[in-house]
Amino acid sequence: MAQRTMELTTLGHRIRHYRQTAGLTLDELGNAVGVAGSHLSLIENGKREPKLSLLQSVARATGTDLSQLLSAEPPNRRAALEIELNRAQSSTVFRRLGVAPVKVTKSTPDETIETVLGLHRELQRRERDAIATPEEARRANTELRHRMREKNNYLPGIEALAEKQLKAVGHTSGALTHRSVSVMAEQLGFELLYVSDLPHSARSVTDLENGRIYLPPASIPGGHGLRSMALQAMAHRLLGHTQPTDYADFLQQRLEINYFAACCLMPETNAVAMLQQAKRDRDIAVEDFRDAFGVTHEAAGMRMTNLMTQHFDIPLHFLRVDSAGAINRVYENDDLPLPMDVTGAVEGQVACKWFSARSAFSEQNRTTEHYQYTDTPSGTFWCATQTGTTSEGEFSITVGVPFDDSKWFRGRETNKRATSICPDESCCRKPAADAAARWRGKSWPSARVHMQMFSPLPRGAFPGVDDNEVYSFLDRHASS
Ligand SMILES: [Zn+2]
Repeated sequence: MAQRTMELTTLGHRIRHYRQTAGLTLDELGNAVGVAGSHLSLIENGKREPKLSLLQSVARATGTDLSQLLSAEPPNRRAALEIELNRAQSSTVFRRLGVAPVKVTKSTPDETIETVLGLHRELQRRERDAIATPEEARRANTELRHRMREKNNYLPGIEALAEKQLKAVGHTSGALTHRSVSVMAEQLGFELLYVSDLPHSARSVTDLENGRIYLPPASIPGGHGLRSMALQAMAHRLLGHTQPTDYADFLQQRLEINYFAACCLMPETNAVAMLQQAKRDRDIAVEDFRDAFGVTHEAAGMRMTNLMTQHFDIPLHFLRVDSAGAINRVYENDDLPLPMDVTGAVEGQVACKWFSARSAFSEQNRTTEHYQYTDTPSGTFWCATQTGTTSEGEFSITVGVPFDDSKWFRGRETNKRATSICPDESCCRKPAADAAARWRGKSWPSARVHMQMFSPLPRGAFPGVDDNEVYSFLDRHASS
């Protein structure tokens, strides 16, 4: 339909061009071909489709031929400008703005159209750039991980801020209570409200006008999820975040609010004191750290990456891997050889089959951690892995260190030992020769397609929050 409209616009411009070149008015040409001038005007403006017989008459009357009239080329510079403007003004990007289109008349100067067209081209360019591709997201994520690696995954400013906030609510040791989190919010001028109708696109919504932080309802009592989410919402305020300008900025903010929540739940002073004692006893264990602060195994393991290198000079790695072996979340500064795509991204890559992170899935007893030594081309690593299950399936959390540092950890006396020569394909990626001989060409697996392969990240707004949804949510609640 749009294509057809464009063809009619071009045709109209060509008829007008040849009419004017022949020195005829609309009425004069109308008389010559037997239609009203007003009808010709509609055709010239691309609003009517002329019959073939009429086009033949027009060609004769203007001294041209049919093929010239029907050419897809704009007949002159002016017509080209008008056609491009017409196209730009009927685009979705432009119409979404709700701005009235420019009406071009005979007296509109070419320069005016060119200026408006310049703005349209820039609008379209920005629109294209705003669609963050998964590849851009991966690159930004990798760069952030490299920056954090250089800082030992440690952010002193946020550590200090969290300690200050905790002191203000009188928190001294142990797990941070829900009550303390509410008091912290109150001190910032916010009330925490749990609602069941949060917009789908938002994890929390802060009403700055009325001093409220809306959070999802407590589906599972206990756990640290809700405390963490409330702390993250407050962190945006405390850290003075503004609308992210690009995907990298968005990721940086996400990292900072997560970091702040982790600092509040596992405060540096207490956490380091506990790890210090465990190290003295040669009994460091993620599970003890987790239980002391009432957080998930994942949060505890990740938190250890913030503190162990900074305070004890121990390099380490953290992996969250799903049951298919894909790496969901990662940190390393101990040179553990990890799979990587061409952009340097580790997330989404499949971990070596022989790594503790994967072999733990085959353990019978999963209530305690799985300990393992793994020989790799970069040396031997000792790892502790805990498996778990969510509605999305099984996952494992691994914290590991180079061989020399295993002496500080519980589980170092394990006899389990594996060898990985990844990325050498013969390690675990290439099928064994006999299996290949048996099945190659005699089987046909049909691949599963992941929908996210095709979906670009949310348009424009990097956090992917739907403003429309958020504002109507606030409307519903602001009056209650
Ligand atoms: Zn391997």
